[in-house]
Formats: sequence, C-alpha cells, structure tokens
Amino acid sequence: MQIFQDIKEIQNELLNKKKQGYKIGFVPTMGYLHEGHTSLIKKIKPLCDITVVSVFVNPIQFGPNEDYNRYPKNLERDIAILENLKVDYLFTPTNDIMYPKGFSTKIITGDITTKLCGKYRPGHFDGVTTVVAKLFNIVQPDIAAFGKKDAQQLLIIKKMIEELNFPIEIIEGETIREEDGLAMSSRNTYLTFEERKIAPEIYRGLKLAMDAIKKGEKDPDKIIEIIDNHYKKFSLLKPQYIEAVDITNNLEKATTINKNTLIAVAVYIGNTRLIDNFFVKDII
Ligand code: AMP
Repeated sequence: MQIFQDIKEIQNELLNKKKQGYKIGFVPTMGYLHEGHTSLIKKIKPLCDITVVSVFVNPIQFGPNEDYNRYPKNLERDIAILENLKVDYLFTPTNDIMYPKGFSTKIITGDITTKLCGKYRPGHFDGVTTVVAKLFNIVQPDIAAFGKKDAQQLLIIKKMIEELNFPIEIIEGETIREEDGLAMSSRNTYLTFEERKIAPEIYRGLKLAMDAIKKGEKDPDKIIEIIDNHYKKFSLLKPQYIEAVDITNNLEKATTINKNTLIAVAVYIGNTRLIDNFFVKDII
C-alpha cells in the first residue's frame, strides 16, 4: 500500500491511473478502523481496480464542545488493517494540508442538514459535505462507499452528488453490529464497562419498532413511543431524539410509516452520544 499525505502527489498519481483506464474505488473514514469500515472496503474492492481509503479526522465537522480532541486514533493499527485488506492507497493528510490558512469554502446542501442530527450538531453536515467534496476532487473516484449507519450523512452525500453532478456512483454498506447488536462505531471505545453493557438496548428498542412495523403498525407516533418506552427502562439511556422521517421529503417527519420511512435515534449513554437507525424499506 502506498501512503500519501500530500494532495497534489496523490491527485497526480490517481489521475495517471485513471488515464490508464483503471476504475477507482474510494472509502473515506476518520480512522480507528473497525468492521464497519472494513465491510465497506470489502464491498467496493471487487467493483474497482484500485482501492483508495482516507483516514482524516475532519475538524470542521465537529462542534466546539464535541469530541474532536479525544476522537480515538491509531494510525499504525489502521495501516496494518488496510495492508491486510490489500488496499492500494491510503490518503492521510494533516489539517494544515486540507485547510490551509484562509480556507473559507463551504458546501451546504440545505434543509436536509437541519433535521435529525443536524438539529443538535449545527454545521456538522456542512463540514462533512465540504470534506467529502474535497476528497472526491483529490481522489477522483468512479465509485465511493458509505455506510447506512450514518443514514443522514449517506442521504446528504447522495443529494450533493446528484445536485453538483459528481460523476461518482455511491455504494451503500449495511450497518455492521457487535454480536449483541450494538452498531460498531469508533466512539464505542468511550463507553465504560457499565455503559457498554446497556448500549445494545439502543438497537433492541429499534428491533421492537421493526417487529411492530412488520405486524402492520403504520402510525409514526406509536413507533416512536415503542422505542421511547424501551429506553425509559434504562436510566443510563438518555435519548436526544427518536424520529420517523421521510427520506423522499428532506427528512421531514413521516405522516405514516411506509417504504420511504427512516427510523433514526441518537442516544446519550453518560457523555457518549451514539446513533442508530433502520430504513423501513430494508425490513418490509
Ligand atoms: P467514520 O470513520 O465513522 O467517519 O465512518 C466512515 C464510513 O464508515 C462512513 O461511511 C460510515 O457510515 C461507515 N461506518 C461507520 N460505522 C459503520 C458500521 N457500524 N457499519 C457500516 N458502516 C459503518
């Protein structure tokens, strides 16, 4: 695997590969890799000739009181994992390289960024779309993979690609979970032993909602109540939001549960904020 920090160097290298007709697949990450990330790499690899992964903890997508400074890092371990998966290129720039003094451009996709997580993390998704647009211009991928674990992010990136005409196909990865159901996340490392024991209840609440939907429940408020009632049984779980939204209408509240509904939650366990979700179209 070749490792690049410099933008021009990797851009030129990959442009040459592109000119030679190689198809480039890209998986952007913030590192501290787990099976969620590796599943995306394994999914994209057979679809392209060259696999590129980025590891960059993007400062502009973190709010002032968020966990940017303590976000877990282990580049050596990440490199070993990527070597093992036979990834061809790793791009791991510094903040100064990505955002030189005076950097001021922003990509803003509008209304969709103000719902769900966007309500509680103002500016977060503008930081995500800005860095992803930069990474797309640097790597020039033909295909790129994103996880459904970050459902709102996935939908926003698809919207950006469509509206700004990036010639890139998006591959969607299923949410990878621990054996007890907890969605894998680099942030799971923040959990204490006691918190980790309760964390799978986040998904258990979603499973109860899935069961009700499969049995025919169509009322969004009832579905939200089922999840909320489950979380209320655990004093350590403090939901920030539990919502049913319409993925075809900028994530506005769903008026009925149907194939366009996304059920999404953000839950605090102690100081750690975890998200999880499911798309109704995946379960009916
Ligand atoms: P991150 O490093 O958290 O920014 O995530 C990088 C990519 O991995 C994003 O497309 C995420 O949606 C995806 N991802 C993170 N966790 C999971 C998971 N548990 N299952 C599937 N994809 C994931």
